[in-house]
Amino acid sequence: MLKPIPNCLSALLRLRPLVLAVLVALPTACSLADGGTDEPPKKEIILVTEPPRDADGRLIPVEKTPEQWREELTDREFYILRESGTERAGTGRYLDNKEQGVYACAGCGLALFESKTKFDSGTGWPSFYRPIGDDHVADVRDESHGMVRVENRCARCDGHLGHVFNDGPRPTGQRYCMNGYALRFVPAQSEPADDQNAG
Ligand SMILES: [Zn+2]
Repeated sequence: MLKPIPNCLSALLRLRPLVLAVLVALPTACSLADGGTDEPPKKEIILVTEPPRDADGRLIPVEKTPEQWREELTDREFYILRESGTERAGTGRYLDNKEQGVYACAGCGLALFESKTKFDSGTGWPSFYRPIGDDHVADVRDESHGMVRVENRCARCDGHLGHVFNDGPRPTGQRYCMNGYALRFVPAQSEPADDQNAG
């Protein structure tokens, strides 16, 4: 009668390294998931490819109070866009996204980058070699953190996006190093012609 108990115990002891490994792995997996998964957006954005301009051709700014931005943005988006924060490398959204489409400002929807200009920089942040349009992404001199860098802001809502460096690939040689949570990806429209052909 007693014999199965030691057998059971020894079986459990043999399994212990596995149980420990699972217990150790769980919090790690959870923290990675927490940093790496997308937050559901608070508000759908409307992609703006032809932004309204004044008589001189300048973009008409989108201006909102911090309270209004807080209502529309998730905590992460607000931290990046409105407080010039930086997501930890490898934790932002769209890092591995290879779908065709447009990356827009998560604040105001202004089209910023085309998927065909996205490249794998190996930095842990979504990277592009050229913005959409001549004036959608603004360059601002940034002397914070003891460095002189060129900061990128959305030219329409002044949201912080990331920084641009001169070590990118051809044809521009530029690397627009973006925070994933400053962006919202809008997939390319599927071809309606396929449905007609199928019918
Ligand atoms: Zn914007």
